[in-house]
Amino acid sequence: MSDESRSIVRRSTTPPSVSVPLVTPLQPSVAYTTDDADALDAVYGGAGFTYAREGHPNASVLAEKLGWMEGADPAWGRGVVTGSGMAALGTVLLGLLAAGDHVVGSNQLYGRSTRLLSVDLPRMGVDSTLADPTDASSIAAAIRSDTKMIVVETVSNPTLRVADVAGIAALARERGVLLVVDNTFTTPRSFRPFEHGADVVVHSVTKMLAGHSDVTLGFVIANTAEANAALGEVAVTWGFTPSPFDCWLAERGLHTFELRYDRAVSTAARLADSLAELPGVEAVLYPGRADHPEHARAASLFAAGGAMVGVVLEGGGRQRVNAVIRAASPVAFAPTLGDVATLIAHPASSSHRALSESERVALGIPEGLVRISVGIEDPDTLISELTHAFGS
Ligand code: PLP
Repeated sequence: MSDESRSIVRRSTTPPSVSVPLVTPLQPSVAYTTDDADALDAVYGGAGFTYAREGHPNASVLAEKLGWMEGADPAWGRGVVTGSGMAALGTVLLGLLAAGDHVVGSNQLYGRSTRLLSVDLPRMGVDSTLADPTDASSIAAAIRSDTKMIVVETVSNPTLRVADVAGIAALARERGVLLVVDNTFTTPRSFRPFEHGADVVVHSVTKMLAGHSDVTLGFVIANTAEANAALGEVAVTWGFTPSPFDCWLAERGLHTFELRYDRAVSTAARLADSLAELPGVEAVLYPGRADHPEHARAASLFAAGGAMVGVVLEGGGRQRVNAVIRAASPVAFAPTLGDVATLIAHPASSSHRALSESERVALGIPEGLVRISVGIEDPDTLISELTHAFGS
């Protein structure tokens, strides 16, 4: 190799500068160099980064911000950013449970979370029971002497039922069981589970927090330094580490998170009321409306009704569902939520497609249920487009 090409292959050092970047630098480096083995010892002792799966600056910056948003005490240590929301939940289960333990899960969890609890955990010797999170007595009845953990979503996907977080937290404390709350739908802007007795908070950062449907990430944080250290070890060992670029994009998304969320929530409240008036609509599911089964609980727990609206179409067979989805174009039909643009999803053909029709109906998810994730478009235009589509 010539001297010239050798110098191109070798890495440059950062040019000296008295100024520093305004924007968080993106640092995709897989490894970090040190002067010698003694310096590497110091880094492993906690002074820096070594290898990206073990941690990198963009994940640390993001974890710091998300922990702060959730009101975590800095003494608990940093939470863990993972490659997806499911990886965050996997980190909790692998990090805080062992074979022989039992978990009580909400019977209204996101489809993959349900599968993780009821199919994958039992394969690894951890038993699980699903119960109704809107009723603490249903959760109480499912707790056994070997129960170590309760897993609920603050607001369920896609039925938007509101868990009795206070009642379940009291129960968890009394029985010495960890309470894990998936706060994806409510976000820390609306609800901070640690203030209501949760021990662990989980997020799909993919959704409202990152907010632009171009990142798949998760986050988990617990309320003790010991638990956060255990979660960090598991995420590193099982390789749940996120990409620096995804963390960088998510951090950028967070800068506008509060503006986006507040705008979406105020539009969602208006949209829910407008859709409820339409003749072709059997029911609107929205925690901010007085006809929601947990409206009083939602009003006491959250500042607002959220950015998601469920709509049950009258006579809602597949044909009517398809007609509404097509009439709503250019509002996109896509199986995700929390994007800057409004999205329509159909749980029966996406998140809950693995269930039989009778299982879905038992969970309150008929074929005719569509879920609207409200974005930040001009509210009047959006409401006019969607009332036209749903009323057609
Ligand atoms: N939790 C909830 C409430 C979700 O809705 C989802 C995905 O839709 C997840 C977790 C999983 O997140 P991810 O898709 O980032 O793995």
